[in-house]
Amino acid sequence: METLLENILIYSLAAILCAGVVIIYLRKKSRESRIVDEKIKKAKDEGLHEPVSMHPVVDVNRCIQTGACVAACPEHDIIGIRNGKATIINASQCIGHGACFHACPTEAISLKIGTEKRGVELPHVSQNFETNVPGIYICGELGGMGLIKNAVEQGRQAVENIVKSMNKQHQAEWDVIIIGAGPAGISGGLTAKKHGLKFLILEQDTLGGTVFTFPRKKIVMTSPMVLPLFGKVKLYETSKSELLDLWHTVLQKNNIDIKENSKVESVVAEDGIFKVTTIKGDQFTACRILLSIGRRGSPRKLNVPGEMKEKVAYRLLEPEEISGKHIIVVGGGDSAVESALLLADNNHVTLSYRNEVFNRIKPLNSIALNKAIADGKLEVRLGSNLTLIEDDSVTLSTGKEDKIIKLRNDLVYIFAGGELPTQFLEKAGIKITKKFGETVMKH
Ligand SMILES: Cc1cc2nc3c(=O)[nH]c(=O)nc-3n(C[C@H](O)[C@H](O)[C@H](O)COP(=O)(O)OP(=O)(O)OC[C@H]3O[C@@H](n4cnc5c(N)ncnc54)[C@H](O)[C@@H]3O)c2cc1C
Repeated sequence: METLLENILIYSLAAILCAGVVIIYLRKKSRESRIVDEKIKKAKDEGLHEPVSMHPVVDVNRCIQTGACVAACPEHDIIGIRNGKATIINASQCIGHGACFHACPTEAISLKIGTEKRGVELPHVSQNFETNVPGIYICGELGGMGLIKNAVEQGRQAVENIVKSMNKQHQAEWDVIIIGAGPAGISGGLTAKKHGLKFLILEQDTLGGTVFTFPRKKIVMTSPMVLPLFGKVKLYETSKSELLDLWHTVLQKNNIDIKENSKVESVVAEDGIFKVTTIKGDQFTACRILLSIGRRGSPRKLNVPGEMKEKVAYRLLEPEEISGKHIIVVGGGDSAVESALLLADNNHVTLSYRNEVFNRIKPLNSIALNKAIADGKLEVRLGSNLTLIEDDSVTLSTGKEDKIIKLRNDLVYIFAGGELPTQFLEKAGIKITKKFGETVMKH
């Protein structure tokens, strides 16, 4: 009898212990799911939940919640575990490393481009990187494949195909004009040099492409790649400055100049060659064109007098470095508002917007903006247009009567939207196809 009672006690204790462990486990999972739910809500509020390009898609029937995908992703909070399954949080932040795809032990992840609801426009490119316009080639992220390593590899391959297709007896000034000096354009330029081509690289901003815009402290994830005329670059985790230094050194050693601040406005086929015109009005001719312009587009200019001055910028790279300045920020979208708020801590900032209300910004930005205005940290000029930029001042015309206001000024930031690369491509006659969830990587 005593043994029976003892046994019942032991089994009951064991059952209570097991139930306790299960409850703790379930509670932990439920807490984790709640956190992921909150992150998804925030991503939706901030417009980051919907994918804009490449992104992972989880087959829930195969997912066994190992969490390997979450741990492997170098960008954070793209995927989380919710109710026992991997789920997408900030899909628009995915840049296509593919680490989740490789890490998943049950092969539950595929990488897709676009979704059923939201198509992604991609140019038509053949296997040798040529578009439907014979003689115009595309490489790098513009073709749909992100990442520095892929851009470098495609820049090399595209120029090697150009070399094979070239008839040197052409009438143009240049064998090839490369448009865009990001990783793809740099690699294309080095390959052109290696093959003895007469080439020109035109860049709307400065060398480095999207990498140039990374925060200084960002850890850049990459994998070993071959840089033409340099050899193997054995990098896994690196920084913006290490990459930019490497590119500067290789280009300098090979006497390759990049024509910076030369935004290309049009590429027109004429008598078997191409006429390239920049926004400054410079014109060049080439036998072949390599487009390595990425997918981020070109900032829209206001076309006001003084806009070419050095103090005018279309992106804010290191706000923490700027203090004690009189700054005007132009625009009414999230980029303008976020930049104005970042600068307002240490500067005298005026935000100028041509409309009477900010109706395009995220709710969180709206709250922060109203608080900054109430605290007197930021001056907002609604219904105003920037009309003139001079060395020490800017002029705004405001209100229905076009009242003129002159403000002291050291720096101008313009966020007037951008022209998508698709508009540029269409003008050049390149066909664009919309991809609605096309699989890019699948087991
Ligand atoms: C936030 C963020 C983080 C990232 N992190 C990583 C990472 O850790 N690792 C990684 O491998 N990749 C990362 N990427 C992706 C990587 O930056 C891109 O895949 C890569 O830079 C693409 O190279 P690209 O040469 O094709 O285009 P880009 O680098 O975009 O270069 C295109 C160039 O063309 C120029 N251009 C555009 N239009 C014109 C025109 N009309 N005339 C003249 N020039 C023009 C642009 O100014 C730009 O310099 C990240 C991207 C982002 C946005």
